[in-house]
Amino acid sequence: MILNNQRQRASSPDKKLTQTIAIIGAGAVGSGTAWHLSELGYDVTLIDPQISQPVKQSGKRSGTNASLGVLMGYVFRRSTGRAWHLRERSMHLWPTWVTKLNQISCPLKINHPLIQLANSEAEASLMNELSKTRSHLGIELLKHQISNKQSKSWPQTKYGGLISNRDGRIDSLSLKKCLEIAMKKLNVQTISSSVLHIEKISSGSDSKWRLHLADGSAQKFETIVICAANESEALLQPLGYSLPLAPVLGQVLEVEIQSSNNTINWSGWPAVLSINGINLIPNGNNRLLIGATVEQGEYPDFLKFQNLKDLNGNAPDWLKDSTVIKKWHGFRSQPINRPAPLLEKLEPGLILATGHYKNGILLTPATAEWVGRNINEESKSIWSQ
Ligand SMILES: Cc1cc2nc3c(=O)[nH]c(=O)nc-3n(C[C@H](O)[C@H](O)[C@H](O)COP(=O)(O)OP(=O)(O)OC[C@H]3O[C@@H](n4cnc5c(N)ncnc54)[C@H](O)[C@@H]3O)c2cc1C
Repeated sequence: MILNNQRQRASSPDKKLTQTIAIIGAGAVGSGTAWHLSELGYDVTLIDPQISQPVKQSGKRSGTNASLGVLMGYVFRRSTGRAWHLRERSMHLWPTWVTKLNQISCPLKINHPLIQLANSEAEASLMNELSKTRSHLGIELLKHQISNKQSKSWPQTKYGGLISNRDGRIDSLSLKKCLEIAMKKLNVQTISSSVLHIEKISSGSDSKWRLHLADGSAQKFETIVICAANESEALLQPLGYSLPLAPVLGQVLEVEIQSSNNTINWSGWPAVLSINGINLIPNGNNRLLIGATVEQGEYPDFLKFQNLKDLNGNAPDWLKDSTVIKKWHGFRSQPINRPAPLLEKLEPGLILATGHYKNGILLTPATAEWVGRNINEESKSIWSQ
C-alpha cells in the first residue's frame, strides 16, 4: 500500500473544504476529478490498484490506457441536450487544463485539427450544414487534401469532409502522467489497492463511509466518488443501487509504414483523420495509430482486427503494406438503458461519475467540474444547517 498520510493543507482555511473525499478509480476520469477537487482545496484520496503500474505494451489495458485520446467535441452532430453541453464545456475547459498540467518533465498538448471524411453524398451534405452553423467553433468544409511528396495519400476523399480546427487529440498516457505529477504537488493521497466494499456508517458519526480495501485496511471518508468504470456496478449493488454497465471492447493497432527512400513525417496530415468511425493518428515518423473496433465479448476478434487494418476495404496500398508493431485492446463502459455518462449524486456523500463509453477522455474536464459543483453545493448545505 502506498500512502502519504501526514499532510498539511495550507491552502484550505475554509472549514467546508476540510471534508475528506475518496475517489475510487484512477483512470482519466478519476485522476482528473481528484486533481480538480484538490485544486479546489479538498482533502482528496485516490484509490486504484493500477496506480503507478507500468502500461502494458500489448494485450489488455484499462480504458484510459487503451484510449486513442481523440477529442471529438465540436463535430458532435447535436446542438442541444446534455451530451452536447458536456462536450462543449469540456472543449472549453481543455486549453486551461493543458496549460496547467503541461510541464518540462511532462509535456502535454492537444494536437489539432481533426478531419472527418464523408462516406456518402448524404453525409457530405450534413457536414456542409454543420460547417455553416459551427464556423464560430472552428469548423469548416474540407476543400482539398493538402499534398506533399514526403507524405502519404489519404484513404478516401471522394465526398469531401470537414475540418474541425479546435478538436484533435491528447495522448491519454501523457495526460495520466501529468495528472499524477500535478496531484503529487497538491498532496493528493494515493492508495494502490482496490476497494472491495463500501460500507455506509450510521448517522451520528463524522464520517459517512468506510472503504474496505484489498490490502486489508479500512478508511473512513465523508464523500465517495465512484469512477471505477465497469467495476462500479458491483461496488454499488450492495448499497441497493442497480446501474448496469456493459463492457464494450475496442482494439487499437500501431503500424509502421514501409518506406525505402523517405521518412514519412506526415506533413499534410491532420492530428486525426477519421473515416467511417476509424481514426488514423500519425504517431511519429513512419508510425500510425489505427482504432478502434467496437466489439461485444471478452476477447478481441481477429476478423475485426483485420478489418481495422484494412479500413473495411478502403485502405490504400501503402497502408495495406504496413507492418503491425503493437496492438492492444481495452474496454469502454457503456450504461445500459441510460445515456452515457452516468453523472449522479446517489445520496449525500455518494457520487457516481462513470460510464463514459467512447468519450471518457474528451469528457474528463466537464465531469470533474460537475463533481466539484455537486460537492460544493453539498458542503454549502451542510454548513448552512
Ligand atoms: C480502444 C479504446 C479507444 C478509446 N478511444 C477514445 C478516444 O479516442 N477518446 C475518448 O474520449 N475516449 C476514448 N475511449 C474511451 C475512454 O478510454 C474511456 O471512456 C475512459 O478511459 C474512461 O475513463 P475512466 O477513468 O472512467 O475508466 P478507466 O480508464 O477504465 O479507469 C477505471 C479505473 O478504475 C479502477 N478500478 C476498478 N475497480 C476498482 C476498485 N474496486 N477499486 C479501485 N479501483 C478500481 C481500474 O483499475 C481503472 O484504473 C476509448 C476506449 C477504448 C477501449
